[in-house]
Amino acid sequence: MNQRFNLQSYDKYIVSFSGGKDSTACFLYLLDNNVPVDKIELWHQEIDGRGNTFFDWEITPDYCRQFAKAFGVPIYFQWKEGGFYGELMRENSHTAPNRFEQWDGSIGKAGGLRGKLTTRHKFPQCSHDLKIRWCSSYLKIDVCSTAIINQPRFRNSRTLVLSGERGEESAARARYAIFETDKADLRNGKQFTRHIDRYRPIRDWTEKQVWNIIERYQIRVHPCYYMGWNRCSCKFCIFGNKNQFASANVISPLQISKIISLEKQFGCTIKRNIDLQILVDTGIPYNHISKELKDLATSYIYNLQIKLSSEEIWTLPAGAFVKESYGAN
Ligand code: SF4
Repeated sequence: MNQRFNLQSYDKYIVSFSGGKDSTACFLYLLDNNVPVDKIELWHQEIDGRGNTFFDWEITPDYCRQFAKAFGVPIYFQWKEGGFYGELMRENSHTAPNRFEQWDGSIGKAGGLRGKLTTRHKFPQCSHDLKIRWCSSYLKIDVCSTAIINQPRFRNSRTLVLSGERGEESAARARYAIFETDKADLRNGKQFTRHIDRYRPIRDWTEKQVWNIIERYQIRVHPCYYMGWNRCSCKFCIFGNKNQFASANVISPLQISKIISLEKQFGCTIKRNIDLQILVDTGIPYNHISKELKDLATSYIYNLQIKLSSEEIWTLPAGAFVKESYGAN
């Protein structure tokens, strides 16, 4: 940890907010530490962009929107034009530009013009290498950095970006720095500076600590947790195990069929040695997938209260503490 790090010393705090339990805990950590709410903003990268939903939970963007509203903080969305599907199907072209919401309501645009013309036609692979696990780099990391770099409001000020990676989830995450200079930083610029640090305050937290802070703030979490998921990733996250894919098949069979047919078309599976059809067929779906939860998770409007009312009793969701192999990222 940088000895000079002072949590209170920043002008802005960006919480990289997926809608999952760990980014929720990151945000609540800031409240616990008396960071002024008017300096905090949530940022959410939309995996599927603004077109048809292909890979992520339909409800996730509006869950994030309603969460921000419940706490009175702004939320800004970023995405790659065409999203996951557009990048997957890219043929002899540049990757599409990134788009980002700005404070004045306008939508910024950057990137997508340089580099070689290439063809993707391959699902991201389960790897630490972000060149082949391209969903993380192309749809999240680069989109977020582009949005910071291309907005003048981050010039000549100090911004802390918080993200919720936890070491318990993988050996790779356990090695992430708790504090470091963010890749969007520009401290020695000729015309302006851009001071951007990255902080992972819950890297060493246990899952129990995460649920404890969520319970203390009485948060209703993303519906996937109540159906049995332990992690709120994309609905068809490449790191999913057979039970997750079998569960996703119960919820969205048409989308799974499309992904299975694309695996065949590309001649390249998501998992190295097994195809998605076998994963779906051999997995056991979670037994908490009710019609109500399924409908909520696959709708675009989140119509429940984020904070429980005084009449409601907070309960641990079915997916809490479920130990399943997810691969590593
Ligand atoms: S949640 Fe999974 S599929 Fe989605 S971007 Fe992350 S690694 Fe890729």
